[in-house]
Amino acid sequence: MFSLSGMTAAITGGTSGIGEAVAARFAAAGARVVIIGRRDGRDIARRSGAIAAIRADCASEDQVARALNEARDVLGQELDVLVNNAGVENTGPMIADATATELQRVFDINTFAVFYGLKYGPLVLKDGGSIINTASVAALMGIPGYSQYSASKAAVISLTRSAAVELAPRGIRVNAVCPGSVFTPMLPPDHPEVPLAMQMCPLGRVGTTDEVVGAYHFLAAAESRYITGQALAVDGGIVAGVSLGTLEAVATKAAAG
Ligand code: NAD
Repeated sequence: MFSLSGMTAAITGGTSGIGEAVAARFAAAGARVVIIGRRDGRDIARRSGAIAAIRADCASEDQVARALNEARDVLGQELDVLVNNAGVENTGPMIADATATELQRVFDINTFAVFYGLKYGPLVLKDGGSIINTASVAALMGIPGYSQYSASKAAVISLTRSAAVELAPRGIRVNAVCPGSVFTPMLPPDHPEVPLAMQMCPLGRVGTTDEVVGAYHFLAAAESRYITGQALAVDGGIVAGVSLGTLEAVATKAAAG
C-alpha cells in the first residue's frame, strides 16, 4: 500500500460515502486526517480514524476559508493533501423544464465549494502538496436529465486543470477523480438510477467506495508526483464506450418488434 505516513489531509464531505471511505483509507495508510462536513462528524471521525471533524457549509466561502484554517491548526502543521469532495446530486428535469434556481443550488456546492477549496486550500497547503477534487463521469458525457449536475462537475474538471497550471510553480498537484455510479447514501441500492447504471456499465455493476478510494490514495501519495491536471475516471468502463448489456437490450427490444 502507498504510504501516507507522516502526512496530513483534510477531506470535505468526509462525513459519509466516498469522503468517509477516503478518510478511512488515508488514516489506514498513516496520514493524520481531518474531515470537514455540514453535520457533527465526531463519531464518524472516530470510526474512520480521523483525528477531528470540523463543521462547515462548503457552499459558503467564509466557512470554507475558516474550516481550512482550523484544519491546519488542529493538525498542527500545513496540509499535504486536500480533498474537495462535498457534493449533491441532481437528476430530473430536462433543460427545457429546469430552473436557474436549481442550477444555482447545484453549482453552489458542487462547483463553488471546489472553487473555494482551490482558492483557500493553497494558503494552508505545503509546497509539493496534492489537491484532489471529486468530479464525476457525468462531467464527461451527456445524460438526459443530468444537465445541471453534469455542468457543475464539468466545471470542476476545468477548475482542476486551471489550478494545476497555476499551482505547479509551488509543486502542488491538482487532479480530479471522476467516479461512475458508486453505492453511497447519494446512490442507495433502491435508487431508480441503479438499473440504468448497471446496464450502461461495461463491468455490469455499480461500484463500491472500496473500489474508488484507491484512486484518491494514489493521487495523494508520492508515487503520483508527476501527475497533475488529470481527470481520472473510476467508473467500470462507462466512458470507454457502449456496454454489451446495452447492445443486448437494444437487440432484444428490436427482436420483440
Ligand atoms: P454522500 O451524499 O454520501 O456524500 C456527500 C457529502 O457531501 C456528504 O458528507 C454531505 O454532507 C456533504 N455535503 C453536501 N453538501 C454540503 C455542504 N453544503 N457543505 C458541506 N458538506 C456538504 O455521497 P457520495 O456519493 O459519497 O458523494 C461524494 C462526492 O462524489 C460528491 O461530490 C458526488 O457528487 C460525487 N460522486 C458520487 C457518485 C456516486 O455514484 N455516489 C458518482 C460520481 C460522483
